[in-house]
Amino acid sequence: MNTHRHSKPEQTMSTQAVSTQAAQPTNALAGAGKSVLISGASVAGPALAYWLSRYGFRTTVVERAPALREGGYAVDFRGDAHLSVLERMGILGDIEAARTNMGAMSYVNDAGRKIASMPADLFAGDVEILRGDLARILHDATRDRTEYVFGDSIADLAEDENGVEVSFEHGAPRRFDLVIGADGLHSRVRALAFGPEQSFVRPSGLSCAIFTTANHLGLDHTGLAYLNPGKVVTMYSARGNTEAKVVFYFVTKEEPGADAASHHGRRDPEQQKKLVAQTYAGVGWETPRLLSAMWDATDFYFDSISQVRMDSWTRGRVALLGDAAWCPSPLSGMGTGLAVVGAYVLAGELAAAAGDHRTAFTRYRNVMRDYVLGCQKVGEGVGRWMVPDNRFMAWFVNQNYRLLPYVPWKGQIARSARKTANAIDLASYGSTDLSGVTGRPR
Ligand SMILES: Cc1cc2nc3c(=O)[nH]c(=O)nc-3n(C[C@H](O)[C@H](O)[C@H](O)COP(=O)(O)OP(=O)(O)OC[C@H]3O[C@@H](n4cnc5c(N)ncnc54)[C@H](O)[C@@H]3O)c2cc1C
Repeated sequence: MNTHRHSKPEQTMSTQAVSTQAAQPTNALAGAGKSVLISGASVAGPALAYWLSRYGFRTTVVERAPALREGGYAVDFRGDAHLSVLERMGILGDIEAARTNMGAMSYVNDAGRKIASMPADLFAGDVEILRGDLARILHDATRDRTEYVFGDSIADLAEDENGVEVSFEHGAPRRFDLVIGADGLHSRVRALAFGPEQSFVRPSGLSCAIFTTANHLGLDHTGLAYLNPGKVVTMYSARGNTEAKVVFYFVTKEEPGADAASHHGRRDPEQQKKLVAQTYAGVGWETPRLLSAMWDATDFYFDSISQVRMDSWTRGRVALLGDAAWCPSPLSGMGTGLAVVGAYVLAGELAAAAGDHRTAFTRYRNVMRDYVLGCQKVGEGVGRWMVPDNRFMAWFVNQNYRLLPYVPWKGQIARSARKTANAIDLASYGSTDLSGVTGRPR
């Protein structure tokens, strides 16, 4: 059934009263009514729509899912660059109110006895929230000024001198001044405007499967991880301990350049569940119980753990943003912050250039490039630690976490991640200067 749903913005930006919570850009009409189509309504897309609509652009977001995708796994923000952008959007308070409030995560042995623990600031950043809760907050902050179209997808793009003719899988063709792909790791916009996925997506050799289940262990704002060579099982409480998220990370030996889109029947959840069940057959601790819960999970998610590497994120009137452009790997803990910072910069540069996309896209690339590379570096080496591929490494990782509270460099890992997340100078783009925000209290 065609689930196409179309919601019109209530009024245009030129007559729109802006929220008193967020800073008022001085160049509020810089977009001068130019139309921008954004593909993807998760994090990057709505964050971009927020800023562009404030700057006077007409924004439309098209999302393949039939409705906002709620729930999902935990994502985090760390450091002042991330938090300042959220603060300026007026949504930091809402995000803090919905935070997961997780404590330390413990590693357990076969019998479920805790053998080591990982402090929360190593994996939960400064504020951690479920991805779906974040998407809802962003949607709430933008839906009165942005047109959302759910249950549809861009089918083709034809660019000419003055705009882009866009055809959709379901809706009628439309014309836009600019098109932005914020449609994640397997971006349709990237495939249409830049080329096949395998030219840009670099699989790490790991995959992950995630689903929600009952919190049958009674976890209280905490998580447990069970390491097996090449196969990790984690389970953490969510939504005030009323449920639990299960994440399986495991080695799949995907070759670089392999067609990640067809990998393990990526779009067939039954095939993916079978692969997970085969991979984890015979694995101890709570694994058999979690595997049997997996078959009933309605929110099962499966993908390869990959990075996206591109020389340029823009071509003509098309640009990419967020995971579509530079996915640093889910294991980096940087993707969500990068998506909101990138949205702030892309919209700010478009406003500063009064909608001249050539100037703005060049600036966007220059401002973001080193920042993105730094965040991607974090994602490169983490897999070996997260999913040790042999018994010795699994033992070594457990020992490290066991000793972590006592070693002098215990705060160094979190400090280093925060430093990477802060390694960008954000311009004010006509709004309040961001330079004075470092060292804000948490
Ligand atoms: C297991 C896991 C754990 C993670 N943990 C963290 C963490 O701790 N910290 C962190 O910062 N990040 C984490 N991430 C990464 C984080 O989720 C992403 O970096 C972030 O969501 C990027 O946002 P995005 O909007 O660019 O892309 P996505 O969140 O991937 O959203 C893309 C959107 O585009 C839509 N879409 C896809 N194709 C189309 C199409 N053809 N047409 C229209 N719409 C389409 C999708 O439905 C989706 O809504 C994790 C990711 C995973 C998988």
